[in-house]
Amino acid sequence: MDAEILHQLGYGLYVVSSSMDGRYNGQVANALMQVCAEPAAVAVCLNKKNLTHEYIRSSRVFTASVLSEETPLPFIARFGFRSGRDVDKFEGLDAMIGSTGAPILKDFCTAYLEVEVEREADAWTHTVFIGRVVGAGILAEGVPMSYAFYHDVKRGVTPRTAPNYVKHHEKESEVSKYECTMCDYIYDPAVGDPDSGVAPGTAFEDLPDDWGCPVCGAAKSEFEKVED
Ligand code: FE
Repeated sequence: MDAEILHQLGYGLYVVSSSMDGRYNGQVANALMQVCAEPAAVAVCLNKKNLTHEYIRSSRVFTASVLSEETPLPFIARFGFRSGRDVDKFEGLDAMIGSTGAPILKDFCTAYLEVEVEREADAWTHTVFIGRVVGAGILAEGVPMSYAFYHDVKRGVTPRTAPNYVKHHEKESEVSKYECTMCDYIYDPAVGDPDSGVAPGTAFEDLPDDWGCPVCGAAKSEFEKVED
C-alpha cells in the first residue's frame, strides 16, 4: 500500500490531558473523533508509551482542548515533542481543573471536552479510549486547527504548488532554508520565526545562538541546509 494515501485522511489537532495522583499531563493528539450522539461520546487513540496514556489508564478520564489556528509552534511543541516524564508541561500555564479532575487548557484553545472513559480497544501500539462527554465549553472565538493546517502552514512545509500555499512564502529568498533533523520543521528565512521574535528576512546564519527549533526545541546545530 502507498502510505501517501493515508495522508488524505483529515484530522483536527488537540491537547489531550489527564491526571494521576495529583499530577497533570497532556499531549498533542490528532486521532480524536466523535463516535456517538446519544450519548455524546468521543474516542481518542494514544500511543501506549505515552505518559498521558498511563494517566488515562489509571484515572479513566481525559480532557480534549481544541487548538486554534493561532496557536504558536512553541506551545504545540511543549505538548508534542516532550515527555511529561522529563518536564511538567503545565508549569506556568493558565489551565483550569474541570469536573473530572483533569486539566483543561485555556490559552489558544477554542473549546474543550471532558470525558469519562467507559470502553477501550487495543490497537497494536496504541489504545483507543472511548468515553462519554460529561462536560464541554467554548473558550474563545477562532478557527480550530486542522492537522493539515498544522503540517502545511504552521511547520512551513507547504509545497509551492499547493493551493493552500500562503502568501508570505511567495517572496522568494536568495538565502537558504534549513531543516530540523529532529522533526522536519523547515526554517524559511523569508518567513522568519515570528513566534520567537525572529523577523522575516533573517538568514539562518544570523539567528541567535540560543535559538532553537520552534517545533521540537532542537538546537541550531541540529539543522541542515535544504538543497533546492
Ligand atoms: Fe525540530
